Amino acid sequence: MKNAIKWGYRLAALLLAGSFALHAYVAVRISPLAIILFVGGLGLVGARAFSIELPLLRWRSVQALVALTLLAAALEVLSAGDRIETERTSVAFVGATLLTQETVDSEIPEGTIVIGADGKIAAVGPSSEIDASSASRSVDVSGKFIVPGLINAHDHLMMFGARHPDEPADFSGYAVGGGAASVGERLLHTYFVRRLVLSLMERNAERELYSGVTTARQVGTVGFLDVVLRDRIGRGERIGPRILAAGPPISITGGHGHQIATIIDGPIAARRAVRIAARERVDVIKVTSTGGVSDSLRVGEAGEPQMAPDEIEAIVEEAHRKGLIVTAHVESTEGVLEALRAGVDNIEHGAALTPEAVQLFRQNPRSLRGFTSLHPTLSVLAGGVVEEAADPHSSAAAAMNANAEIIRDGLIQGYRDALAGGVLVGVGTDSGVIRHDAVWKEMEYFVRWGGVSRAKAIHMATHDTARSVGIQQEVGTLEVGKSGDLLVLGADPREDLSVFETPELVVAQGVVFAATD
Ligand SMILES: [Zn+2]
Repeated sequence: MKNAIKWGYRLAALLLAGSFALHAYVAVRISPLAIILFVGGLGLVGARAFSIELPLLRWRSVQALVALTLLAAALEVLSAGDRIETERTSVAFVGATLLTQETVDSEIPEGTIVIGADGKIAAVGPSSEIDASSASRSVDVSGKFIVPGLINAHDHLMMFGARHPDEPADFSGYAVGGGAASVGERLLHTYFVRRLVLSLMERNAERELYSGVTTARQVGTVGFLDVVLRDRIGRGERIGPRILAAGPPISITGGHGHQIATIIDGPIAARRAVRIAARERVDVIKVTSTGGVSDSLRVGEAGEPQMAPDEIEAIVEEAHRKGLIVTAHVESTEGVLEALRAGVDNIEHGAALTPEAVQLFRQNPRSLRGFTSLHPTLSVLAGGVVEEAADPHSSAAAAMNANAEIIRDGLIQGYRDALAGGVLVGVGTDSGVIRHDAVWKEMEYFVRWGGVSRAKAIHMATHDTARSVGIQQEVGTLEVGKSGDLLVLGADPREDLSVFETPELVVAQGVVFAATD
């Protein structure tokens, strides 16, 4: 018995060490104080486990208590991080070509933009007309190009995002066995794993910011960790883009994303889910009204309508009473129609559009603002699907890959139908499923598959996406009074979009981040 307890302690010590090592890995920055606390705590656990008597901590219970306190303190220090210096001073960028985005062609060839100490644009115009002397710092950017910061309307910071969008997708990795999956789901709801997930989100948020994304809308996160992250970034404790948070998606029993979703069955539960989200101070409501690729079990399941029309309607009505936008994961023509008729404000992914769908996008009486917009997320399947990737012994893996191929054609067709029908289209990449730092690639796919000009694609990633997610008063163009969110690029992005891959400077709410940091 005594032996079993001893080995129990040893196992616990190992598990703790493993969890902290993982935490340190995702946290990137390791605080020296956390290391001291951690080593101290672990030393005590070790002493306890291997029955070493410590002179000052003679009682074993005291020893264990001190060890646990130290370890908990270490975890807190790791999670809290250092307050990041984001003090703003007024700054002027002088001499660049400003692509201001009021319209596709708005251009100031030799312009100056001044951002005030409040982080908002104080002046913008030709350098000859703007007095930049009032700014406490002046940056010479002659020969360079300035555009508004990019907006990613469809992001999952909680996911690793390993694959580049040009690479083919292989969803067989998602097909884990039922037992393992359910253990994983349970772990997601534990304190330790949530702390880990938050650290991962913080790392990914930083990555996205440095890649030029100054607004990242979260459309599906475990718990309300995106709200936590939004507030941490807002308080200056973390570096990252402006976050719009949806919290967990709303799904039905067995529906797409149910692993992390708030589950509803029936209109009453639907209203309750929206009220819970509103209480947690979300910015947007996300529903998954049809099946999706990543958890489909048979061919054809992705895109199948799941949520009943009266459930979607209840969610939309309740959200709109609170002024919240509703965005819906939809991957079939029928699903798009159901969601549009219920009055959702955005469609994520999409599929081939009927004339009725196009009409409802343009004029949707039940939507919050009278129209609905589309985020086709072409990036998620842009590279196609790995041939014969699926493990022949796993029917789920085979189904996912087959579904991915079907959905890919739908995304592209839906995007083309939307362009032809004059539907508002915005940029969302489903990053997390793909890399977090390749948001600009979506613009390239807009050009490739829709035939729009590069200038138009830039306009879509800024002006149009801001309007789509409802923050056009704040961001999307370079205009006086708007947030100081902009990118300094070394060459004209209208000639080559890949210049977005390495922005020279990223300015987010007036704080300047150099790409080399
Ligand atoms: Zn997604």
